[in-house]
Amino acid sequence: MLCPYCSSFELILNGKHRNQKQKYFCKNCKKQFIQRKYSEEFKAQALALANRLGTQKACEILEIHANTIYNWRKK
Ligand SMILES: [Zn+2]
Repeated sequence: MLCPYCSSFELILNGKHRNQKQKYFCKNCKKQFIQRKYSEEFKAQALALANRLGTQKACEILEIHANTIYNWRKK
């Protein structure tokens, strides 16, 4: 996961929201947010990260499946 506010990877799992969505707390900007659908911005960041570090490493950091990145690449 990436922080939607500052794009930091330094996130802390911060319990569950009422609707069972995972809550995150960003160590960098101190904001709290819940996991949401991947935005176009997130996709672009994920692909840029994959180009820089390799797909496997990017997937570990972002907690997404490698196939997700492959699918985004194809488009
Ligand atoms: Zn942040």
